[in-house]
Amino acid sequence: MSDHVVNVRRPSLHVVGGGSFPVGRILCIGRNYAAHAREMGDDGRNPPCWFTKSPTGIAAAHAYGPLAVAYPPETDDLQPEVELVVGLRSGGRNIVAERAHETIYGFAVGLDMTRRDRQSEAKQARRPWSQGKDFDASAPVGMLCPLATMNGLPQGTITLTVNGKTRQSSPLTDMIWSVPELIARLSRSVTLAAGDVIFTGTPAGVAPVVPGDTLRAHISDLDAALEVHITPR
Ligand code: MN
Repeated sequence: MSDHVVNVRRPSLHVVGGGSFPVGRILCIGRNYAAHAREMGDDGRNPPCWFTKSPTGIAAAHAYGPLAVAYPPETDDLQPEVELVVGLRSGGRNIVAERAHETIYGFAVGLDMTRRDRQSEAKQARRPWSQGKDFDASAPVGMLCPLATMNGLPQGTITLTVNGKTRQSSPLTDMIWSVPELIARLSRSVTLAAGDVIFTGTPAGVAPVVPGDTLRAHISDLDAALEVHITPR
């Protein structure tokens, strides 16, 4: 009798220009834009908080069309949060912000899909957020753009449209904590590693989606948009 584990899923992102980026872990920053922090109930002056999603939640966009994402179970309030996503090529501990760019492989746009009703219950009950944040296809991510092909770190506009109407739109420069600051801060808490993926927080404007909706996430500095169709559960 074999006790080998078979068919282990190894989530990876597709890279613009070819290749794939195997995902280690997913670290998600909360409340990194002041206006969104206010809409979620705080004054925007707190240090960054974060939570994790399982890599199995990755739904990786590819070059040939939109992703279909099924409306998940156990929610009636599914909300996408558009976010700049960073993929790390290396890691370490106690990385200084001035050298954090050396650990970056590339950038993508992603959606931190949230079962907001479950997250709100967890907050009220002072329980962990996992039911609200960590589920199948909870992390759709567009194709990864290598930093080596870009003109420095992205500084443009991040946008989410739902059925063609703009819902979230903000300059990335409105982030409370910059990407290098986030890498530095996270590396004081955990050892970062190649393959780690950081969701860097969402701007204001979060709201529910329903089956049939078409979501388009885009960052002006990046070649690769992310299109998601929400299908019935
Ligand atoms: Mn988020």
